[in-house]
Amino acid sequence: MIPWPRRPRLVTGNWKMHKTAAEGGALAADISARARRELPCEIAVCPPFTAIEAVAAALRGGPVRLGAQNLHAEPQGAYTGEIAGAMLVAHGCQLVIVGHSERRHGMGETDAIVAAKLNAARRDGLVPIVCVGETLAEREAGGTDAVLERQVGAAYAGLGPADAAVTVVAYEPVWAIGTGRVASPEQARAAHRVIRSALDRGVGPGVGEGMAILYGGSVNANNAVALFAEEDLDGALVGGASLDAPGFWSIALAAGGSRAPR
Ligand code: PEP
Repeated sequence: MIPWPRRPRLVTGNWKMHKTAAEGGALAADISARARRELPCEIAVCPPFTAIEAVAAALRGGPVRLGAQNLHAEPQGAYTGEIAGAMLVAHGCQLVIVGHSERRHGMGETDAIVAAKLNAARRDGLVPIVCVGETLAEREAGGTDAVLERQVGAAYAGLGPADAAVTVVAYEPVWAIGTGRVASPEQARAAHRVIRSALDRGVGPGVGEGMAILYGGSVNANNAVALFAEEDLDGALVGGASLDAPGFWSIALAAGGSRAPR
């Protein structure tokens, strides 16, 4: 397991199905050059699998961490089209996104699958970024807290405080992802508090306070400062705005600069 700081400020780019190896290598080189001059907070990028090698080469020797967007729960086997955690580690990955809403809602990933992937990531020495979040219908029906409690409870079932400390949660309301409709700082704060309480109840007292909880959903250079003014937001998982180095960098600067060091 890589050394992982207690409750880091972290901005992670989720490139989704964007960037060839050459394009990803160039974007990573630009981000890495900025980070080598000044590192405002922990930074990670999660390219598609086919760009991981080129991105790893561009990041080598610098402070930007490499992540992946998904892994299979099994360590190896007859799973056509899937990727195991050890394969990601062999290419220099330190983090992996699990339970992204585009996989929960688009690829049928259940709470049980997300929990299995979280455990697989830990087994293989990767820091999982565990995505949770409600749909618009669930929010409008007043079910946000219950959805977050269920998703966190299922993902972290059986984990102890030391295990949870090397994981990250991303609160990503489904209605905010890729829509341009960002959660208000108050909505994000309320959800982050529910998540921290669920971690305390499910894993152990004080666990939630020690973990980074990111917000994700239409974060960009314009709204980042207001979001990060909230004490409960430890950073962001950024989709569309992570595909452009200057915009992504503005978000990283906002995450790192808006508060005194903990
Ligand atoms: C995401 O993919 O996790 C995400 C938050 O996307 P976007 O920033 O584009 O809403």
